[in-house]
Amino acid sequence: MPDHIFFRGGVHPDDGKSLSCDVAIQSAPLLETYVVPLQQHIGAPPKPVVKKKDAVLRGQLLAEPGGFVSAAIHAPTSGTVKDVSECLGLSGTMIPAVTIVADGEDTAAEPLPVIENWQEADPDVLKQRVTEAGVVGMGGAAFPTSVKLSPPPAKSINVLILNGVECEPCLTADHRLMLEDPEKILIGAQIIARILGVSEIHVGIEANKPDAIALMTEKASGTPVTVSELRVRYPQGAEKQLIYAITGRKVPTGGLPMDVGAVVQNVGTAVAVAEAVLEGKSLYERITTVTGSPVVAPGNWRLRVGTPYSEALKLAGGVKMDPAKLISGGPMMGISVYSLDIPVMKNTSGILLLAADEVSQYTSESCIRCGRCVDACPMSMMPGTLSVQIENERFDLAEDWHALDCIECGCCAYACPSHRPLVQHMRRAKGEIMAKRKAAQAKK
Ligand code: SF4
Ligand code: SF4
Repeated sequence: MPDHIFFRGGVHPDDGKSLSCDVAIQSAPLLETYVVPLQQHIGAPPKPVVKKKDAVLRGQLLAEPGGFVSAAIHAPTSGTVKDVSECLGLSGTMIPAVTIVADGEDTAAEPLPVIENWQEADPDVLKQRVTEAGVVGMGGAAFPTSVKLSPPPAKSINVLILNGVECEPCLTADHRLMLEDPEKILIGAQIIARILGVSEIHVGIEANKPDAIALMTEKASGTPVTVSELRVRYPQGAEKQLIYAITGRKVPTGGLPMDVGAVVQNVGTAVAVAEAVLEGKSLYERITTVTGSPVVAPGNWRLRVGTPYSEALKLAGGVKMDPAKLISGGPMMGISVYSLDIPVMKNTSGILLLAADEVSQYTSESCIRCGRCVDACPMSMMPGTLSVQIENERFDLAEDWHALDCIECGCCAYACPSHRPLVQHMRRAKGEIMAKRKAAQAKK
């Protein structure tokens, strides 16, 4: 293994990946109805371009970007628009959505023109294609990819890092993608590099995926892509930690990867970019891991956006015991949800069910100042002290103590013997600080 730099902090949770890592990706059969959320990304909501009773084809535009930081939404199959209304979102509130009743034909819309000679293509043409196809970061954040590929002229980018780490426990979608579609990942990486104008390309993969490392290394031979094997520690896949591990560059507090000349993209995003350019395909499906000890047959599925979690769970055989918790994503950074009606979105990396004995039964106690959260924090923060400030609603102090640097990785809460809700506190502080900044901006 190359001598990569180990980032500070982090934890070693049980990875829980054995349930699904050897299960090949399966395609889901067509459903009768898809409920496609319109706000699937960070940024402005897109504007619907269809109305009730319109006929649509697979891949057809349903909503166009509502601003620079926004992303297009496309139909997952052919059928009729039943409604342009709302559906249940991850936060428990209703969000705008388009409901499509499938006609069972799955007829594709005319694809976007294929760009075969991508090696020679104008980078702006390639970037425009990423925008048209509605590609967003598929590792979790769902940030519009075309925006990430448009750094300000003052920021010089010289390294592209593809994130194949998948450090989040229980999730295996990226692992399977690297085993089953390595060529597309590598082409996607080179297309992204062409858009950015960089020649140094790395794919970071943790050492607990030796089969993916071996295959990606073999396939990358003769390409400008270097596969970097990384030591295992959560949250190795967080952008700032990954950049540090591979390049030794430290993103400054309050800064972005572009401040150190780096752009990070998930391996799934690279596949979406390759498909947009080489096949003219818009992003309307993704690989999702459906897993957890209550699930009968955990595995990895190619799911179309708008598939309700309940249908995804049926594909995995349903449950063999009552689950105590349902999580969108993984156990460390995922979001606990209460309904299986929630639809799959472009960033649904996993649907995880936990049994009663896997859910914390502890109640939160006072901080004993043991410092374990400080040791665990990969952002060199003091979560215990911040938590007390936040309980006392001293958001001004929390801002001074860099609460906005928190990446919500959950390492502090994982390490805390008093079971304090440290991540919830950090999320609250970040929300309050951002709201205060927005209000101050509006007054100007
Ligand atoms: S304070 Fe934030 S960044 Fe630090 S360990 Fe906790 S959740 Fe992670
Ligand atoms: S780990 Fe928990 S108990 Fe220990 S210092 Fe941090 S918040 Fe306090």
